[in-house]
Amino acid sequence: MHLLDKFLTLQQSLTKFGIQNSRSEKDDSDIKIQVILKSCCQLLNVARVSLWLFSKDKKSIVCQYLYIKADDKFESGLEIPESACPEYFEALNTSRVINADNAQTDYRTREFLADYLTPLNIMSMLDAPIFREGELAGVLCIEQTIAPQVWDMAEISYSVSVADSISLIYAQSCWFSEKQKMRYMERVDPLTCLENRFFFQKRIAQDITHAAGDNQFAVILIGLDDFTNINTRFSYDFANKLLCEISRRLENISSKVPYNLSRVGGDLFALWLPSIKEQSQLDKMIFDIKDQFTTAFKTFTNEMIHLTASIGVISCHMNELIDKDPLRKAEIAMLKAKEEGNGAVSYFDPIWLIEHQEEAILEKEFVDALNHGQIVPFYQPIIKQEYESSGFALEALVRWIHPTKGVISPYVILPIAKRLGLMGELGNVIFEQTCIDIKQFINLGLNLKKVSVNISSEQLFSSLLIKHIEDCLDKYQVSTFLIEFEIVEELLSGDFDVLSNQMEKLISLGINLSIDDFGTGYSSLSRLKNLNVSKLKIDKSFVDGLPHDEGDICIVRSIIGLAKGMGLQLVAEGVENQEQAEWLFKNGCDYLQGYLISKPIPSADIIQLMTDENRFFTDNCK
Ligand code: C2E
Ligand code: MG
Ligand code: MG
Repeated sequence: MHLLDKFLTLQQSLTKFGIQNSRSEKDDSDIKIQVILKSCCQLLNVARVSLWLFSKDKKSIVCQYLYIKADDKFESGLEIPESACPEYFEALNTSRVINADNAQTDYRTREFLADYLTPLNIMSMLDAPIFREGELAGVLCIEQTIAPQVWDMAEISYSVSVADSISLIYAQSCWFSEKQKMRYMERVDPLTCLENRFFFQKRIAQDITHAAGDNQFAVILIGLDDFTNINTRFSYDFANKLLCEISRRLENISSKVPYNLSRVGGDLFALWLPSIKEQSQLDKMIFDIKDQFTTAFKTFTNEMIHLTASIGVISCHMNELIDKDPLRKAEIAMLKAKEEGNGAVSYFDPIWLIEHQEEAILEKEFVDALNHGQIVPFYQPIIKQEYESSGFALEALVRWIHPTKGVISPYVILPIAKRLGLMGELGNVIFEQTCIDIKQFINLGLNLKKVSVNISSEQLFSSLLIKHIEDCLDKYQVSTFLIEFEIVEELLSGDFDVLSNQMEKLISLGINLSIDDFGTGYSSLSRLKNLNVSKLKIDKSFVDGLPHDEGDICIVRSIIGLAKGMGLQLVAEGVENQEQAEWLFKNGCDYLQGYLISKPIPSADIIQLMTDENRFFTDNCK
């Protein structure tokens, strides 16, 4: 956002929050200063009294107010540069008062003679400094015309006290506007200039306290889907710009129902609708919110990206509320919407409160689990079409060995890690443990072809990834040709430069890359071609319908054709029966993975399985 845009937004928000940029306070100060200048002029019986302030660069002084007694009026605007009167500027910076009885000859003021003193017939000057925030900010200038005036002690002291009074007014006004800024900052999210969570919650609590019992309200919580990916795939700058644009779009929804908008978390926006007359108003609002996401957002490189948001809603009558925190309930509803999938809307159900408490406990336990070896990889075999020799590849799949709940699946683990911002740590733990297991498999003389490890966008776009990999490989003496990384297809749509740079680094280490869940995302073929991947993994959802479903047959045949055309190898995931395996091998798929061969199992079971592999292969695949 440009500084100017930001400033304008700030101004609008100041107005919205009822803070008028301390305008009335400024008016007040102006009047006070004018009164002081005028009374000073009358009391000292001089011709002119003026107040000058330094320009921003301190290279000139600008007249703010000039009171001319003869005309009984104020003027302003004249500017005098330092270059025109260096002696005067020097005196201003070094003396407390410039008392020039004869201004036309005094070395400090004679520089003004031709352009200022003579034309205005000024004979004497008495100038005292004005301070602001402890610094010299300007000068009070008392001028006598027609006849020279010898300034006595009383007049000099008086001029100093007038200047000090003006300095005090500035100090007060500065303090006042600081106080207002602080009040503003307490209420506002500095990035989007929307109300912050604290103020938003306070507003809701107040409205609830003062509302009539049968008033219907709603809190709508909007959680952007996969926003961490935006942060990692693009830049933080872009992510911030996006958040600001979303704020503006939501702010500009034209609605008949009054609402307050807030950014209540990194990628969370909330609307408070304190008074809803009928359900259709709420429905319309939700429709309008969703509508804001139908127009794509432009990246810095003019790429268009689409965002979706999961929406959680709580709506009831004020007298049905048990506490004053409906935002929390909207949050729980929003998490449910996230579980349902991109762009869903969920209405709060009280039963979720209990579930949510359980999730919160799991989140707490997860951090300990990461550090205490409870997060481990299970391995699922991947077998090859032409079975030349013994041995097979494996895919490492995360599991949480929970002390009381048993084995917990990635579908529970990954959202927790995402919510806690621990995807990177989770990936590191899995990769390190995979290296430890590989070392053991090799030491036991098992014939291991390769182990593929899933990497998340948080890992892929992290600058620490390569170092962590190198350290682990080095520490456990694992050769890189045994490692493959799986990247889900949708990650290919990120910032291409960063992506290809990271992938090149991995490839130069000797690590193969494969595209996971192929067919479910929107990868561009040219990207695929340029990214040097070596394998595609056909998603289970297409394998499910084989060999009968015409649609699946058609899709899988196209993917096989594409892979062959691009010289890529193919793995089919989720193969559950013999019919599927036969069709896939017959149609040119290179590798199979699925429950037909084995479910993902712990490393100890893999050791057993690989030891018995010949028997296993004969039993299941012949
Ligand atoms: P994925 O990488 O596509 O892994 C394949 C998933 O399909 C695994 O689920 C696997 O158990 C399941 N699967 C394989 N064969 C069959 C089958 O024949 N039938 C059925 N019904 N399922 C089968 P899992 O282990 O639950 O993992 C789910 C997803 O979680 C993975 O999908 C992957 O995207 C993600 N994931 C797992 N481990 C990690 C990890 O360490 N890091 C990251 N970033 N993601 C992981
Ligand atoms: Mg995978
Ligand atoms: Mg997959």
